[in-house]
Amino acid sequence: MNTAEIQALNDQYVINTYGARKLAITRGEGITLWDADGKEYLDCFAGIAVCNLGHCHPAVTEAIREQAGKLIHVSNLYYIEPQVNLAERLSKQCFAQKWFFCNGGAEANEAAIKLARRYWAQKGTPKPGIVTAEQSFHGRTLATITATGQPKYRQGFEPMMPGFSYVQFNDIAALENAITPEVGAVLIEPIQGEGGVRMPVEGYLRAVRELCTKKNVLLIFDEVQTGLGRTGALFAHQGYGVTPDIMTLAKGLANGVPIGAMGCTDEAATGFGPGMHACTFGGNPLSTAASVATIDTLTAPGFIEAAAKTGDYFLGRLNALAADHAIIVDVRGKGLMIGVEFKEAVSPLIGKMLDAGVICGPAGPNVLRFLPPLIITTEQIDRVMAVLSACLGELGW
Ligand SMILES: *Cc1c(COP(=O)(O)O)cnc(C)c1O
Repeated sequence: MNTAEIQALNDQYVINTYGARKLAITRGEGITLWDADGKEYLDCFAGIAVCNLGHCHPAVTEAIREQAGKLIHVSNLYYIEPQVNLAERLSKQCFAQKWFFCNGGAEANEAAIKLARRYWAQKGTPKPGIVTAEQSFHGRTLATITATGQPKYRQGFEPMMPGFSYVQFNDIAALENAITPEVGAVLIEPIQGEGGVRMPVEGYLRAVRELCTKKNVLLIFDEVQTGLGRTGALFAHQGYGVTPDIMTLAKGLANGVPIGAMGCTDEAATGFGPGMHACTFGGNPLSTAASVATIDTLTAPGFIEAAAKTGDYFLGRLNALAADHAIIVDVRGKGLMIGVEFKEAVSPLIGKMLDAGVICGPAGPNVLRFLPPLIITTEQIDRVMAVLSACLGELGW
């Protein structure tokens, strides 16, 4: 099928939650994508921070092939070898010593929210309140749109879940006030992704950690977007030297195979016992085999360090561009999670870049977001920069 044919079937049979789009992408390799009409693109979005190793990475594709020929699915009524292999690998890489697997980011956050509530209930001191940040994004289920600090995601879906309250990101005094005796957990993204690639100010995450410890509440980091090498460390909190009690992962965890995970300390894990939470597909053999291959590739010596350097190069080039363009308000990011804030809405710019063969995306109306596969080279970044400059010129920006 060509693009027009795919679009026609989509419009006829698929519920219109995603609106009109320009592309149908049918093939990918590394950083390159091809659409249904054969046109080639340089991918600077990686799904949405999903294909961190690039498209169809051979190690992941091979792991999927091998597992698909052996066993695709069994339920969690049985032990699952690739699942325990994945849990062991993840535990060796970070603070979290216990894991629960599911299918995506919202489900991982649901698991974290349920665990936090159950943990305090179990202790005999129920405190169901959860504090989250304005401008955050935590998913599209009812509990996670409640957690998400952006009213546009909630409109028409009320009533929301009780027990959530919100503070400005980066305002530690506001957080201190918000942690009332009913609050049992704080849920934040170390760097806010969908909300505009908003960075924590110096010392903020550390202050959040200290406050949570002092007030005896659980700190949950939503690393669904920042995790898996995206910000120059395997997990963003490691780059900031701040450790949560619970962390959620999804997006890049299996380089494109649907998976989510909630990891926590041994202590936090005591909140869950048999029968308290479950997920039919969670941690199934296919997704966890793909994830094991993803983790092994990401944690190969030098891989993430190289991506961090590439990110510095990209930020440097964007900062230089910003110096010549007053319409650019700010360039920010860490590793290869980068936002460029404009005075204008960025959708025309994204459209022009797409026409010129570069795929990137927004983070809110005025922020252009780059989330390329971590294997992007400086030469490819030079090509992206040439396209970006030319598109700014065409727009008279
Ligand atoms: C994408 C995202 C989610 C939601 O993940 P889904 O897999 O779409 O449910 C949650 N939190 C953050 C930070 C995200 O970027």
